[in-house]
Amino acid sequence: MSHQASADLNRKSTKAQLSTLAIHAGEARQKPGGSMTDPLYCTSTYTFADTDSVIRFIEEKQMREEYGRYGNPSEKVAESKLAALEGGEHAVLFSSGMAALVGLLMAKLKSGDEIVFFDECYHRSREFCSKHLSRFGVTTREVKTGDYDAMEATISDRTKLIVSESPTNPHLSIIDLDRFVDIGRRHGVETIIDATLATPFNLKPLQAGVDYVLHSATKYLAGHNDLLAGVIVGRNEALEPVRKLRGIMGAVNSPHNVYLLLRGLKTFELRMQRHNANGQAVAEFLAEHPRVEQVFYPGLESHPYYQIAQRTMSGFGGLVTFLVKDADWRETANVVDAVKLPRIGPSLGGAESLIEQPLVMSYYECTPEERRNFGIPDNMIRIACGLENAEDLIADLDQALGAT
Ligand code: PLP
Repeated sequence: MSHQASADLNRKSTKAQLSTLAIHAGEARQKPGGSMTDPLYCTSTYTFADTDSVIRFIEEKQMREEYGRYGNPSEKVAESKLAALEGGEHAVLFSSGMAALVGLLMAKLKSGDEIVFFDECYHRSREFCSKHLSRFGVTTREVKTGDYDAMEATISDRTKLIVSESPTNPHLSIIDLDRFVDIGRRHGVETIIDATLATPFNLKPLQAGVDYVLHSATKYLAGHNDLLAGVIVGRNEALEPVRKLRGIMGAVNSPHNVYLLLRGLKTFELRMQRHNANGQAVAEFLAEHPRVEQVFYPGLESHPYYQIAQRTMSGFGGLVTFLVKDADWRETANVVDAVKLPRIGPSLGGAESLIEQPLVMSYYECTPEERRNFGIPDNMIRIACGLENAEDLIADLDQALGAT
């Protein structure tokens, strides 16, 4: 199969716009059987015509597949497409966002190394570092999100990576990528940005000089609340050990899963426009509501990161976090329970809106002091706006806030 057309498109990726890349990048113009969609290769193994073919493959590293744990043609299409969307050289697809983070950290770190995290991060990322990487002699240091001096002061000659999300979850803090990259470069330390909440529609960390961009593709990239996937985009050479480790970990996607991801990506730009519009509309509504104490959304002037968000992002996504005024945890739960449209559940980025109380959903087992440290008050609600009509979402939130 010739991938010439898609290779041309990828070369021109600085010119082609995001919607064009989301639809065409990585795909051959002419596919087997004249099919419009990429065929699925539902196979665990790939056979060889004879022994000489096997030897040619091993000696010459011929471009073909060998075994499903090392790759699948559909996966390569998805990887090329995701690399093109980020404007990166190469992408490695994983079976989930967490598998991508674990694969990247395990491939890059060894005993005695240190990493520094900005502290507002997905709680399982923190847990992997504190409970598991530590067992292999890797030390994780956390500094307050946005405190660049503290991050710099925490870097030692053992530090190999600095890591942050942007925007962070659930506070939606925005990282000044220029400062972040500058710190990494001056100290010879590689940089990772988990841009799951931004997507390449709203933020381009590689253009700012970040070494690795990570996504839970489960969220906006796939976009339909129907699959798990993760991806890391960066330089080809730097990702080689990550790809090799993935082949050993086996954290790969089934061809069916990749098909759903590719299908979801076709509408990526349209969906992001709607997520951004819904997020902004809901945030503005909540900011004016008498029962709301505070709204966290980078598109609101009241947000501490509003200026940097305006300067560096093209939109702020569908996630909106807010505090219910003078409410204890149960009164806050009553608001969540009174909502009729968004379903109660974790995750974000799908067609269906989701709502949760972080205290209950992700931080229930933490002590009150830990929750205070993580900035998770009892009256916090996180809504992940989907693709529904914004007025319907607002009317629903209004009745839920009014009814309780
Ligand atoms: N990064 C962020 C910012 C997330 O919110 C999540 C999941 O919620 C992950 C990574 C992990 O992704 P996954 O659930 O696909 O493993």
